[in-house]
Amino acid sequence: MLNINVDSDGIATVEFDYPNKSQNILNAASMGAYATQMQKLLADPSVKGIVLASAKKDFIAGGDLAELGAATDAAAFHQSIADWHKLMRGIELGGKPVAAALGGSALGGGMEIALGCHQRIAADNPKARFGFPEVTLGLLPGAGGTQRLPRLVGMQAAAPLLMEGKRIKVAEAQKIGMIHAVVPAGQERQAARKWVAEAIASGAKPLQPWDAKGFKIPGGGPATPAGMQMLMAANAMLREKTYDNYPAPRHILSCVYEGLATNLDTGLAIENRYFTNLVMSPVSKNMIRSLFFGMQEANKLASRPAGVAEQKYTKIGMLGAGMMGAGIAMSTAAAGIAVVLLDTTKEAAEKGKAYAAKQWGKQVEKGRLTQEAMDTLLARIQPTADYADLAACELVIEAVFESRSIKAEVTGKTESAIAPTAIFASNTSTLPITGLAEASKRPANFIGLHFFSPAEKMPLVEIIVGKQTSDETLARSMDYVRAIGKTPIVVNDSRGFYTSRVFGTYVSEGMALLEEGVPPALIDKAGLMAGMPVGPLALADEVSIELVHKIALQTKADLGAAYGERPADRVAAKMVGALGRLGRKSGGGFYDYPSDGPKHLWSGLADQFPQKVGADGTAMIGLDEIVERLILIQSVETARCLEEGVLRAPIDADIGAILGWGYPPFRGGPIGWLHTLGAKESVTSLERLAAKYGERFTPPARLKAMAAKGEAYYPG
Ligand code: NAD
Repeated sequence: MLNINVDSDGIATVEFDYPNKSQNILNAASMGAYATQMQKLLADPSVKGIVLASAKKDFIAGGDLAELGAATDAAAFHQSIADWHKLMRGIELGGKPVAAALGGSALGGGMEIALGCHQRIAADNPKARFGFPEVTLGLLPGAGGTQRLPRLVGMQAAAPLLMEGKRIKVAEAQKIGMIHAVVPAGQERQAARKWVAEAIASGAKPLQPWDAKGFKIPGGGPATPAGMQMLMAANAMLREKTYDNYPAPRHILSCVYEGLATNLDTGLAIENRYFTNLVMSPVSKNMIRSLFFGMQEANKLASRPAGVAEQKYTKIGMLGAGMMGAGIAMSTAAAGIAVVLLDTTKEAAEKGKAYAAKQWGKQVEKGRLTQEAMDTLLARIQPTADYADLAACELVIEAVFESRSIKAEVTGKTESAIAPTAIFASNTSTLPITGLAEASKRPANFIGLHFFSPAEKMPLVEIIVGKQTSDETLARSMDYVRAIGKTPIVVNDSRGFYTSRVFGTYVSEGMALLEEGVPPALIDKAGLMAGMPVGPLALADEVSIELVHKIALQTKADLGAAYGERPADRVAAKMVGALGRLGRKSGGGFYDYPSDGPKHLWSGLADQFPQKVGADGTAMIGLDEIVERLILIQSVETARCLEEGVLRAPIDADIGAILGWGYPPFRGGPIGWLHTLGAKESVTSLERLAAKYGERFTPPARLKAMAAKGEAYYPG
């Protein structure tokens, strides 16, 4: 865990060396070992000074999230942090100079240990990053970070690091004063030792700036005019951005405001309370589970069928050089894989490549890509109209028009050109994969790879397994998704698959509220307050109300008498039919889009959907219930997807929602939110909403059974 060496001058080197891991992490075991050793060294009169270092390429990666995620005993946790603060204060005030030698990154708790040293010397390592990522997982830097950093660099410079989790490089860390000196890589230990030796020789008691007489916070504390102004602005901006859904940045701001008004020790006690509160909160547990562990599992392809050799890709085919085709080609070329980009004519295919050139060109202009690298990327994309060029492709993805017959035609033509072992994938957004596979001679090799727009940027791919898709095809397709650096979720074939189906319920619920007479401005605001990136009516305009209408008509035609009409169907039919308002692309929908100004709600909306307000002018449905409906409709539909076997694992639901349509991470995902509420409360709320608003809220059977048995989680 730690390698200790005391040299003949009485300078101890404490080297972090977490066993069997590539990174040093902080948990009960490693922190306990560190505390014991440091106390020993501080008490030993033959030890005059200490250098902290790491046996790995980085200093310390941060806290052990598994341990933080599992912590449930608030009192015990609070005490353990108080003990840690005592240790760090002991080091700061122990009279022995302590320097940190930072060979690589120091993040989170690792950076906090370094901040507790009298001197920080970093290697000039371009890969090293310094900062506090805690806030991105619903936590705060709880080992003194919210207190020491602003006392060291000022509140202004500390704000983006603490509140946004910004990681900075070594030069910037030195510039703001987080690091004292930068030396050529490999010399940091020697330099730290030299500093310790000189400090010993000087005979002066080493002190942190905040322990020295006359200490003032750089740039002013919270009670100065500058400090006041900064904190007020930060508070307002935070509220505007998050609708107060995220306790972590709010608590960080409170730690800074309250903690910097007093001395460091009281500040640390304040931080400990906020930290314990966050660690125990469902928000951080949700964020750690979905954003960290869930994402890690998905990216490791935890659900990849076993026993299939990994497929390496050298060349893929892309049918259709439109918006999606060009984006997928870009992502693929960026991963070093050659792309044959096929369209009806060579000119049409060239257009897709030109789109890629334009997007990459913007990056060259910004200095993010060299011209040479861009030329290499472009050289990987071969535009064509000739199916024979697809011969050597290991995988072909189609993104042609959303038409069964066109898709069938290109499937046949492609299969005549490619090897029998190659995979054929469809990027369809609405057509069931099993049906499309009927056009294939090799349905076992046929699969859905559903990308999101813009495909070159969006990180998720929804993999759709048809009835006859083989495990081998699934495994090899997952290899492709990983190769291009995107995150896969795996779903079974069904109408709307998973993402479109659940995302659609959010849009539809907004339209139902409109029909009930809720003011449209309130509906969209409630969506934002719920944590969604865009309100449901604005979103309906973006995806097009016509599409919502068409999908309803198609579903009705397919299901016949079994189809139950939803309020949104009536609203969409009216908007598209009588009113001719199809959405943003067609000139306007729920909103108008004037060319000379920002969009605004269509003035005719109030006549078409009369608003029902009470005598005091407020809506008949409370804001809380509107928010609840917009969120729970997604959860209940996701629970159905899980129970119908459309989804294979609850975590896929949560990752798919967060990455696919910007579902608010603080809720953990649509299933994560049911877990947060608990099955019992979820069922009670859903039954209440079902009684008031209809069957679409009726909780499915397994959720009800979980509630009856007192179970909290969907298994898996
Ligand atoms: P698009 O209209 O921008 O592009 C389609 C391209 O396919 C055009 O370049 C067209 O010339 C080409 N094409 C048509 N028939 C062809 C044929 N027989 N052979 C070769 N090329 C042919 O459409 P898009 O938005 O890129 O969508 C393509 C597919 O992706 C559709 O199935 C769509 O449902 C799906 N999709 C779209 C989105 C989205 O947000 N746009 C998201 C996910 C999936």
